[in-house]
Parts: sequence; C-alpha cells; structure tokens
Amino acid sequence: MSESITVAGVSVEPGVRRDLAPTASESFTGDRTTLPLTVINGSEDGARVFVTAAVHGDELNGIAICRQLLELLDPDGLRGSVVVVPIVNVLGVQIGSRYLPDRRDLNRAFPGSHTGSMAARIARLLLEEVIEGSDVGVDLHTAANHRTNVPQIRIDTTDARALGLATTFGAPFVLDARLRPGSLRETASERGVPVLTYEAGGPLRFDDDAIDTGVRGVLRVLRSLDVIDEAPAPAHEAPMILHESRWLRAARGGILEMEVGSGDHVFGGQPLWTTVSPLGAERSVETAEEEGYVIGATTLPLVQPGQAVLHVALPGDRLPSEDDPTDEEDEEDLDLPPDR
Ligand SMILES: [Zn+2]
Repeated sequence: MSESITVAGVSVEPGVRRDLAPTASESFTGDRTTLPLTVINGSEDGARVFVTAAVHGDELNGIAICRQLLELLDPDGLRGSVVVVPIVNVLGVQIGSRYLPDRRDLNRAFPGSHTGSMAARIARLLLEEVIEGSDVGVDLHTAANHRTNVPQIRIDTTDARALGLATTFGAPFVLDARLRPGSLRETASERGVPVLTYEAGGPLRFDDDAIDTGVRGVLRVLRSLDVIDEAPAPAHEAPMILHESRWLRAARGGILEMEVGSGDHVFGGQPLWTTVSPLGAERSVETAEEEGYVIGATTLPLVQPGQAVLHVALPGDRLPSEDDPTDEEDEEDLDLPPDR
C-alpha cells in the first residue's frame, strides 16, 4: 500500500496533488518569501524525484519545462512521487536576475542555514523539504548572461547511477563537471541523492528545443525509475559523453562572424570565427586547435580580446584543462562575506 508523504509539515495522501508555498524568509517589504512547489504523490509506491528550476532567477527555460511536466503528470497511476519546484529563486525571477537582491548566488549557498541570509534560508528549506528524502533530482539551468548552451546534462561521470540516468535523459551531450562547493548538486550528492544538472539555452527567454528536450528528458528519467508507464523518444540521438571542456577566447576586438554553430562537431584547423573591424577589415580568423564539440557560445555580436566566444568540449578522456569548464567568469565579481 502506498503512503502519504509530508512536505513542509503538510501531509499529502496517495493519489493526491497539492500546491504548497512554505515560507523561506521575509523580503525588504516584510512580505513572506516562499518556495512555491507542487507535490504529486502517486497512488502507488515508488521512487521520489524532485525537479527544480530558476535557482538562478534569469534562467527561465526550466520554468516552462516544469509547467509542461505539471500538465502531464497525474497522481493517479503514478508510482512514487514527484516534487516540482518551478521557481526556487522567486526574488531573482521578479527582477530578472541570476542572483538574489543582495547579489548572492543561491547555487553557492547550499546547504544553507535557518539563521543565514536569504540565500542560505531558501537553500536550507529546499534541502530539508525537497532534496532530502528524494532518490533522484533534476536541476534545470540555462547559460549565463549573453551566452547560450546546447542542451546538455552535467554530472560527475564517475557516479554510475547518475551516468545511467544522464544517458537516459537524451540530451545531445553529457558533460563531466566537477561538483561546485555550495551548489545544490554537491549538497544533494553528499546526501546520496544523484542530481542531473540540465543546462540548455540562454537566460531571459524561452528556447523551444531546450524546453522540449528538457520535458522529454525528465519524463524519460521518470520512466526509467518506473514512476510513469510511458515516456517519449529522446529528443536527440544517443548522447556524446564529454570529459573536458574550455572556453575559446577572442584574440582581437571587433565584429564577430561565426563560422560554426552550437552543437557542431569541429576539427583541428577548421575556422571557428572571424573578427572584423567596424570599417570592414578582417582582423583575425580563429581556428580550432583540435577536434571538439561546440556546447555553448556567446550571443554578443561584438568582442574584445580575451572575451569568451565558444565553449568547446573535447571528445574522450583527456587531462584536466587549465581553463574551467563552467561559467566561472560569472562568479568573479562576487566579493561577499561568508554566508553564515
Ligand atoms: Zn544556472
């Protein structure tokens, strides 16, 4: 017989779907800051899965993915439970910002605390009410400002369970990405809950392919855990597993003319982009040093020297690169005291 589950002090009976909004903290105006979520408790026992989106408040594709999932998932006949949190960073979404209003990055605030900053309290609430007790999680993201990502899953590929689920998800790429201190994925992993970080599209817009691949992917993960009976075919062919990536940067300033696109397979010596002066003179042609896959790109048409242009991942096992695989640049301007 299946059992009721309790989230934020509310018991949700088998076969029932419940919208909840537990309080995380209070805003500058004294209003409650909540964590809006939906609990879908299946009529039969099974795995517990969570889906989170908009931990970064300008990353909106996940909100659309959650909305479609909530339309598709029915507690009747579901085995186990699914907790969907379409907007983790409510205040960030309200102002179209990756960060919270105090500039803290919620995805560096885990495991959080009950007495810390806004970020710490939201993180703690999510951890205690949603992440802990789950078997698997999917955390939905997009690229940072002025960039776009090809749909991809980021995991620690040495975690066999995560690798299996990531392959099932059916995004075109699976990227081996180390755990970031203070991230949702690290905190969940430390508690034995594998999390697939889905990165797709760019901020402040809806990207159809990113959303479609994400919806199919989550449903495929739910099917593989026997939570639901059917799942759509993967949006893409078998994913390419990539172990190392780096951003390629502009050598010259000017107007960017791309020679390749997101998702392209590129080879050593192939032209990647041309930089042209505003007066029309060609300034440089950047070529690939080696084979790789374009997994992310700038969306800005103008560049300065040193600016990241293409995120390229190398196929197969290689030694770690000097350059960081993820969006480290976006953290550099943060000079905040420890979040405690
Ligand atoms: Zn993000």
